[in-house]
Amino acid sequence: MRDQFDRSIEYMRISVTDRCNLRCVYCMPAEGVPCVGHKDILTYDEITRICRIASTIGISRIKLTGGEPLVRRGLPDLLKMIKDIPGIEQVTLTTNGILLKDKINELISNGLDAVNISIDTLDRDRYAYITRGGDLGEALSGLETALSFPFLKVKINCVPTQDMPEKDYISLARLARDQELDIRFIEMMPIGLGKEFGIVSGDWVYSILKKEFGKAVECIGRFGNGPAVYVHFPGFQGKIGFIDAVSHQFCDKCNRVRLTSEGYLKPCLQYGTGTDLRKLLRSGADDAAICREMRRTIYDKPACHHFADCISGAGQTFETRDMSQIGG
Ligand code: SAM
Ligand code: SF4
Repeated sequence: MRDQFDRSIEYMRISVTDRCNLRCVYCMPAEGVPCVGHKDILTYDEITRICRIASTIGISRIKLTGGEPLVRRGLPDLLKMIKDIPGIEQVTLTTNGILLKDKINELISNGLDAVNISIDTLDRDRYAYITRGGDLGEALSGLETALSFPFLKVKINCVPTQDMPEKDYISLARLARDQELDIRFIEMMPIGLGKEFGIVSGDWVYSILKKEFGKAVECIGRFGNGPAVYVHFPGFQGKIGFIDAVSHQFCDKCNRVRLTSEGYLKPCLQYGTGTDLRKLLRSGADDAAICREMRRTIYDKPACHHFADCISGAGQTFETRDMSQIGG
């Protein structure tokens, strides 16, 4: 469906859990966030029902995220339940990759279309520092397993932090030179702990990569569900993408809404506004009533975020949830 600014909304990101097996410094406090109780988290049947209703108003692509989606038991079952809904064309996953090796066969059999793996650096010590104890080897073995399925689209997400050395960008980018995968550099957004970190602009990362790999060609067309701008360096198998949410706002092309693990439908990352679908589901509302509320929430999607103002101190972030609760 189209929102009040005539944007076509086709994509829903679903946080299936706010729990995680890592504690990335910009995403979760060392002690973790107070976890949503089991009874407050949407069940798989509830998530599937929301997806089914969403599919009738034009949501055709779903991303399963978190927290860490693979820590929730039976995630491949949920994937299949959603994939079986008529009108849902694609179900993809964003994961830190730690549990991917063990789960990938079931995910693939149940219809996984693509996977994004978050690996901010290939330096083992730095990875352990950023994730507060994560083992890079485990994430890389998840990556390697994913790459062994030639039809599975694989992307790596990196959120640069200001203390990241230039060589780390270069070694990540080399993965896209040597293998068929894309690397995306995502600007830090002032959400949750992200507010405490400065942003490293995509333009700056691009300038480092150009010094190392030469002139790149901008890729025309749309790749994936997101707003990334992709470039292709000579001799590379994969592309390099930049998601510059802060320095190059792309809200006029935004196509997404988010569903938190507690069933809160959020039309924009920055604001706390939205609709408590869990309350509706659990109060016995029928599909038509839920659909009406979803339509209203999507129609009312705000024009844009004001992340740049938040960073300069001129504005506020109104969302008080952390990224792991919203589903980044
Ligand atoms: N645990 C999974 C993972 O790490 O891929 C899925 C959830 S995580 C919240 C999804 C993505 O959001 C990750 O790539 C993470 O780096 C990114 N992220 C977390 N906090 C962020 C922030 N403040 N700004 C930008 N991206 C952020
Ligand atoms: Fe966990 Fe992903 Fe957040 Fe890291 S970015 S703490 S892996 S949810």
